Amino acid sequence: MSQNLTTNSDRFLADLDALREFGKQGSGVVRPAFSPPDIDSRRWLTGKFEACGLRPRWDPAANLFGMPSQPGKPILIGSHSDTQPEGGWLDGAYGVILALEVARTCQEAGGPPVAVVSFQDEESAFMPMTGSCFFSGKLSRDTLYDLSNAAGQRYGDLASALPELEEPESLDPGLFSAFLEAHIEQGPVLDQAGEIIGVVETIVGSRQFEVTITGQQNHAGTTPMALRQDAVTGFAAFITKLEEQFTEIATPRSVWTIGRVDVRPNAPSIVPGALNCSVQMRDGSLSQLDAMCEITQKVAAQTAAERNLNISLLETKAVDPVDMDDQVIEAFCDAAGSNAPGAWRRMPSGALHDAMNLAPRIPTGMMFVPSIGGVSHAFEEDTEREHLAAGVQVMADAVTRLADQLGNTG
Ligand SMILES: [Zn+2]
Repeated sequence: MSQNLTTNSDRFLADLDALREFGKQGSGVVRPAFSPPDIDSRRWLTGKFEACGLRPRWDPAANLFGMPSQPGKPILIGSHSDTQPEGGWLDGAYGVILALEVARTCQEAGGPPVAVVSFQDEESAFMPMTGSCFFSGKLSRDTLYDLSNAAGQRYGDLASALPELEEPESLDPGLFSAFLEAHIEQGPVLDQAGEIIGVVETIVGSRQFEVTITGQQNHAGTTPMALRQDAVTGFAAFITKLEEQFTEIATPRSVWTIGRVDVRPNAPSIVPGALNCSVQMRDGSLSQLDAMCEITQKVAAQTAAERNLNISLLETKAVDPVDMDDQVIEAFCDAAGSNAPGAWRRMPSGALHDAMNLAPRIPTGMMFVPSIGGVSHAFEEDTEREHLAAGVQVMADAVTRLADQLGNTG
């Protein structure tokens, strides 16, 4: 049985505040992948690794690892430190600095070996979760290096320009015994319930359709109502039925969004002849996603028949839910129970995270701390400092438990 590890809240919060300065704008942060603040912050983190005896390693994707000095197969902890074009200060950054503090504590106290990672480009400047896609083997180096961002910059050119990436070696996820990610919840559940820790059971999956409704464009003054093939009134009927039928089968965790609508020709004196919209559904259960897809297809066919329209569906996105590892979930639950008795819960993650990419490769789990007001991807994003610190200790305790079970106590 390993000893208990006591993390240093003041030191952790000071480092988290220091990372915030890279790309700080008001209360938020602008630090997209490969921007000068992103590169500067990675170099700063390299120095932090060296100062506590973690060996820095950059891989070809510019993912930055801190490798422990203790023998044994390390547990990998981390998240991402790039941000959205207008990001909050904690999204990703929290998980990286938390990992630094836990690994540092293990280095000092002779705890189990813990490695740290800051994945590159989780926030989709090139593609969603780019760095962890490469690390987990879902993306080859050639494909990675050919990706471009909105400014037309090639990933390969930006990576090759870094002296740190001279002849970088890829790291195999099999070097690590598990991957643990801490993140702010980015939703309101914990905050509203007055709870401190969420243990993630599943990262929800999604399905998305591009819906095309085709009728007959015509004169708005001369076309009698009975003879119209109006794409907009058809759309109204379609989403009303969809809303009714989704609601009938929904669990508290099912969500759906018709987020984009384009009407053609979008003019006051023309009966609209065509309409495109997106229908997106998210849920932690595969069968629930399948049921929602079936409803969408059935309602589309019914509406088309009733309204004399053509309605076609094209599936544009299908991401299956990803379950977290049972042993990791139990370790987090034990740690949450002893640090935050009565103030934690098991829950799904509604947002995508790097952990999704690692889960098929090594035992993987996630924990959340609350987001004040549920706000994220915005400058207002924040979490109580005592909750930030509580999460670090929960992670340290989970690592101790897990290292005992995995037999890699160094
Ligand atoms: Zn994030």
